[in-house]
Amino acid sequence: MPNLSNSPRPGVLARYGALLDLPPHTIPVTLQEGDTPLIPMPRLAEELGGGFELFVKFEGMNPTGSFKDRGMTVAISEAFGRGARSVICASTGNTAASAAAYAARAGMRAVVIIPEGKVAAGKLAGAVAYGAEVIQIEGSFDDALSLVVQISQHHPIALVNSLNPYRLEGQKTAAFEICDQLGTAPDWLCLPVGNAGNITSYWMGFRQYHTLKGTGLPRILGVQAAGSAPLVLGHPVEHPETVATAIRIGKPARGEQALEAAEQSQGRIIAVTDEEILHMQRRLAASGVWVEPASAAGLAGLARQLREGQLELSELRGKRVVGICTGHGLKDPEIIAHSMPAPRRLPARLAALEDALLGAA
Ligand SMILES: *Cc1c(COP(=O)(O)O)cnc(C)c1O
Repeated sequence: MPNLSNSPRPGVLARYGALLDLPPHTIPVTLQEGDTPLIPMPRLAEELGGGFELFVKFEGMNPTGSFKDRGMTVAISEAFGRGARSVICASTGNTAASAAAYAARAGMRAVVIIPEGKVAAGKLAGAVAYGAEVIQIEGSFDDALSLVVQISQHHPIALVNSLNPYRLEGQKTAAFEICDQLGTAPDWLCLPVGNAGNITSYWMGFRQYHTLKGTGLPRILGVQAAGSAPLVLGHPVEHPETVATAIRIGKPARGEQALEAAEQSQGRIIAVTDEEILHMQRRLAASGVWVEPASAAGLAGLARQLREGQLELSELRGKRVVGICTGHGLKDPEIIAHSMPAPRRLPARLAALEDALLGAA
């Protein structure tokens, strides 16, 4: 047997399990998630005004293409260890793919409930490819979540939405990793907010690491889409709408904790339009990082704060800013295909190609 604990990419439980609050029955189920790149973005920092260091934590590089794998490895490891044989979740897509993959890994049954309307094709395909039973309900994500909570209370089927505390335990590891990669916490952390599990986990993780290692605390900028911004509006949104399907959530399960994280960190929660999200998606891709729309929301929020002067460039001088890019662009190819011109067609002749690329001589 190869010694997996010596592998350079052993997974978040092997790396950080000792810092997570887990019951002793936990049996690791891993796909070697985590250890994602922290990519310097000097050109984008310049475009935003310059004078600060900007990094993207590219969580799309996890095994199923989103940060959900960090929490899912832990939630499934706990459920598997206590003898659960089935898991269920409500999902806008990425949780479904992740739950399906880790359940498959453990030989468990996975059921995913998706909302009516748009779930990105790359995500649904993932859930199906990993063998999950996918059920679409005639209702919203929030309806789906309420159903899976009820069924898991009455039947022996483990809930793996981020209401499951072990999801948050696993997602804390992204904060640990950033501190290990930079040597300290960044000054600002910008990330999208949907159901608000991730912002809650980051804040838990940074505080825990700071207590242990004195790594400092970031200010947190949480960003919602304008069409589904309950935390900015101060009330649930009945029919949330946005191109950023991963954050199309009107009643965030961890909304209170998200507001606390923003307040305690001296950060804030704001909203950006779909146009701003798609614009930032293109800017990131222009630096070689293609992310799904929701993943661009965090940095779209930073750009808006700088543009509107809620955040002064002088405040950022010499500071380090990390944008969390939560999922890979391949998850949602239609959004690009939609605005893509058809490729030019040419005869298969060198002269024609030269003409097309270099202009007629
Ligand atoms: C789940 C998800 C989010 C939102 O995270 P929450 O924990 O629900 O706030 C953002 N982006 C992507 C790509 C996601 O999959």
